[in-house]
Amino acid sequence: MAIFKCESCGATKEGHCKPKECPKCGKTDIMKKQEDSGSGSGCGCSCKSK
Ligand SMILES: [Zn+2]
Repeated sequence: MAIFKCESCGATKEGHCKPKECPKCGKTDIMKKQEDSGSGSGCGCSCKSK
């Protein structure tokens, strides 16, 4: 699990992969990863593979 933070409004969201948009301000591609649970680069889910 990682925590993503909005660079614009500061809202945070937990998830396995990077949120497409901020849940609070709605801006896209603005969520930055704050923490992750360790392993490797990229997320393990299929959100980015297509
Ligand atoms: Zn935001």
